[in-house]
Amino acid sequence: MKSSRKVGFLWQLQTSLLSLMIAQGTLLGLPASAQLRTDSNSATPNGSSLSYSQFLRYIDEGRVLKVDLYESTQTAEVELESEDGKGGPRTVRLNLPVNDPDLIRKLRSSEVDLAVWPNPPGRLAWGLLGNLLLVGLLLGSLVLLFRRSGSMGGPGQAMNFGKSRARFAMEAKTGVLFDDVAGIEEAKEELQEVVTFLKKPERFTAVGAKIPKGVLLIGPPGTGKTLLAKAIAGEAGVPFFSISGSEFVEMFVGVGASRVRDLFKKAKENAPCIIFIDEIDAVGRQRGAGIGGGNDEREQTLNQLLTEMDGFEGNTGIIIIAATNRPDVLDSALLRPGRFDRQVMVDLPTYKGRLGILQVHARDKKLADDVSLEVLARRTPGFSGAGLANLLNEAAILTARRRKDMITMLEVDDAIDRVTIGLTLNPLLDSKGKRILAYHEIGHALLGTLLPHTDPLSKVTVIPRSGGVGGFAQFEPAEEMGLESRAKILDEITMTLGGRTAEELIFGDAEVTTGASNDLQHITSLARQMVTRFGMSDLGPVALESQQSEVFLGRDWMSRSEYSESIASRIDQQVRQIVTHCHSEARRILSAHRVLIDRLVDLLIDQETIDGEEFRQIVAEYTPVPEKALSVPHF
Ligand code: ADP
Ligand code: MG
Ligand code: ZN
Repeated sequence: MKSSRKVGFLWQLQTSLLSLMIAQGTLLGLPASAQLRTDSNSATPNGSSLSYSQFLRYIDEGRVLKVDLYESTQTAEVELESEDGKGGPRTVRLNLPVNDPDLIRKLRSSEVDLAVWPNPPGRLAWGLLGNLLLVGLLLGSLVLLFRRSGSMGGPGQAMNFGKSRARFAMEAKTGVLFDDVAGIEEAKEELQEVVTFLKKPERFTAVGAKIPKGVLLIGPPGTGKTLLAKAIAGEAGVPFFSISGSEFVEMFVGVGASRVRDLFKKAKENAPCIIFIDEIDAVGRQRGAGIGGGNDEREQTLNQLLTEMDGFEGNTGIIIIAATNRPDVLDSALLRPGRFDRQVMVDLPTYKGRLGILQVHARDKKLADDVSLEVLARRTPGFSGAGLANLLNEAAILTARRRKDMITMLEVDDAIDRVTIGLTLNPLLDSKGKRILAYHEIGHALLGTLLPHTDPLSKVTVIPRSGGVGGFAQFEPAEEMGLESRAKILDEITMTLGGRTAEELIFGDAEVTTGASNDLQHITSLARQMVTRFGMSDLGPVALESQQSEVFLGRDWMSRSEYSESIASRIDQQVRQIVTHCHSEARRILSAHRVLIDRLVDLLIDQETIDGEEFRQIVAEYTPVPEKALSVPHF
């Protein structure tokens, strides 16, 4: 509504401008048009026009009363006495030959009223009108442009964008305590001190210590950085101001900076307090970096932030906590002493940490006795605190949906699959597609069970999941991600190739499916990393490529490893050798267990899921599990 009213107003403005110009034009142009009108209506003595010779004759005859000469157009307006002496004089326009000196002499000798003008009056008026129109159009489009750019910031923003509406949140009491944060004990210990700074600053100032201004929490998403910052405020009993870095960055230059000013102003009024800046990398990126130059707005915001941080004394009781998962992109000015000089890592939790987090989130949930948080913690390496919280919540939702009053291990298991792999879809009907899928998954599962360096199978299933997953073989993940041996990576490649290899063995090369594309991507990347990063090939212990991380357009998008063409082709050759070796291993083992495979596939199609224990028992009836350790080949 607001903006449409604005349009109305503008239209009024523009039309009044236009009418003003038209009025001016008419004023000036009126005589000319009147003359023109008279001209076109007048009958010249011999009909429609006056020739030059006629004009000269009329002069001689003394019938010309008045002549207006216009130099620029080489025309003249001539007032003639009416032919029969009756009626008023008539005005006629005619063209003049260029520079006829006789004409002037003749006019002067006959006593004609002669006037010479540079321009005809109508022309001047129309020219002026035209210019005014142009100016008006320009003005109009300028106004339009202004309105357009204003409306980009939302209706009604054009005029008041300088004043930021406070976009930060203030919580007088966060209600979060250190007890609610689990699994990140080192970080908690470091931050315990910050609580003391806020509660008993005199203990530090008494001995001349400066209280740090800023703490940077570094860690992957969902590990509890926000929670930790809130817990500090909660433990110290101080207000908690929070803003996200992305909220600083706005269309209009200067808004982010003014937000920073507002935030610090409010914080100073409420000191002691905590200022929490989430995603600080959104503003705090290396200045002057980025393709196509820096971002002025962001730099201004960052500069303002730095200024504010320098501006208050260390002991005013404001502590700034910032969070990021990309400390590498931060401007070095942010990290120097006196700013965010304390950096605390908040990492993904270990087994003990996960157990602690699960215990925190199990507090308010009804768990049946069969649910073992220890087992759950063991099965969830790589989960963040947020992931674990979500997992328990999913289990609780499933329990409610199934109208049970306790969360049992069944719901927990389903919740894990659901958050890791996707929703369960309806099972496929028995078809050729399902058989191919079953052979593929059994290929993975059997190799995973028979190879000596793989993780134990937890289950294999052909129940499809959302996201295009037809089935999967799942392995009990290794306790913590850590050092991986060469033998283990090779076995992983072999196991991953097991799906495609089973398809080939059973159905032949012509029938292999696209289902293995993820597998192939995975093994290619593993094999390549063995060669280029881990020094596990003939090329020797050299790192030819660094870890492939997402390209950060800011700083190092150009830095690529450099090696010669010949090394590049040797890398390719090594990768191929590794894959070929593993492929033939997979083929060898699978073809040696054809009978076992058929039996497992029948069972899988029949019951849709085989769990790890059952699977191992069946395999053990045919062959020792795992097969004797193979010697690890060299390439
Ligand atoms: P981050 O800020 O690191 O992205 P959050 O602090 O926002 O993560 O965590 C989101 C949620 O996940 C929290 O509200 C909490 O419920 C849960 N959570 C994350 N880490 C922990 C932890 N260490 N202890 C307990 N709960 C956690
Ligand atoms: Mg957060
Ligand atoms: Zn597969």
